Amino acid sequence: MREVLQVRFGEIFLKGLNRPHFLRMLVERVRSAVKEVGGHTWLSDGRVYVSDVGDMDEAIRRVTKVFGVHSVCRAIEMPKDDFEAICVQAAELMKDHNGTFKVSARRSDKRYPMDSPKINGEIGYYLIEHLPNLKVDVRKPEVVLSVEIRDQAYLYTKPILAVGGMPVGTNGRATLLLSGGIDSPVAGWMIAKRGVKVDAVHFHSFPYTSERAKEKVLDLARILSESLCGIRVHVVPFTDIQMQIHEKCHEDYTTIIMRRYMMRIADQIAKREHSQALITGESIGQVASQTMHALSCTDSVTELPVFRPVIGFDKQEIIDIALKIDTYETSSLPFEDCCTVFTPRHPATKPKMDIILDGESKLDSEALIAAAIENTEVVDL
Ligand code: ATP
Ligand code: MG
Repeated sequence: MREVLQVRFGEIFLKGLNRPHFLRMLVERVRSAVKEVGGHTWLSDGRVYVSDVGDMDEAIRRVTKVFGVHSVCRAIEMPKDDFEAICVQAAELMKDHNGTFKVSARRSDKRYPMDSPKINGEIGYYLIEHLPNLKVDVRKPEVVLSVEIRDQAYLYTKPILAVGGMPVGTNGRATLLLSGGIDSPVAGWMIAKRGVKVDAVHFHSFPYTSERAKEKVLDLARILSESLCGIRVHVVPFTDIQMQIHEKCHEDYTTIIMRRYMMRIADQIAKREHSQALITGESIGQVASQTMHALSCTDSVTELPVFRPVIGFDKQEIIDIALKIDTYETSSLPFEDCCTVFTPRHPATKPKMDIILDGESKLDSEALIAAAIENTEVVDL
């Protein structure tokens, strides 16, 4: 007899031809999540199990963050042949509970001598006999004691809800424009949750933005990397482009033009990394560069789809996710971002394309972009 972690995944994704691939990826992701707590991970009978864990709470913390995991249970694994021992163990699991319960048995081993209703009845009866504080309620029980008869018997009471989603790597690649703010880490996390492998591009304007501002972004990437199964960050030197925009373009248009250069560079890096989309943390109307007009001006420099998963969220809704994924505190540290260095006094909220193009024509875009990409630093986390 031993305690194991039983891992369940969203069954909706398990239909059709993708099932074996999905399962293989999920086992791989769970295995690497528990590697440092010494767990042994295997797949049996359509469920993933983890055993031999040093610190079970830490294993649960890690596994419930793995995209694709629906819930986990601490389960007792024991031989299924000694039914008396199963009853004793059931009573041990339920001994601290006062109130209503029911037993829910499932038998995937159809040769087992008792069927599910019989198992429910026998264990239920044993529990009432031995634990006078328990009362059966099959409709709305406070606690459900699950008993699964597989190659072994598994007993557990409380499923712990996990993050859901799909395993990273089952749905292609995308490139996140990662700033030091609250929104973009959330955006990257949301797309990764759908099984997408995410890498990041960060624009850095040294010395207008400090070394510490860059470190903050790498800290955010480090926090994300646990859920994202590692992340590659491209740190792009952006000072020259920003200076030129600042000198040569209409002041009200500097932010929107800067965003277009960010998109162009991210587009090239994404293609090099075989990424199929860009991701930003934009939300309609949050700032001048995120009006409907401005968003279509930034979109038009790339033919890659641009995913903006927080587009319809209020700031507080984004903050709630940032808190859940542990990025909020780091995002809130007060370091300057390249967007805040040269902020125009009256940014254009309805930018006109001819003014944008006129401004951009004064820059040697090709050379500036090539130099920025050439000098990009790649950090794997
Ligand atoms: P965030 O909280 O994500 O910084 P924000 O509300 O501050 O967003 P903006 O500064 O307008 O909004 O940036 C909009 C989006 O552009 C960001 O969500 C991010 O995807 C991208 N972005 C902004 N600054 C940078 C940067 N320095 N490097 C990479 N991407 C950036
Ligand atoms: Mg920002």
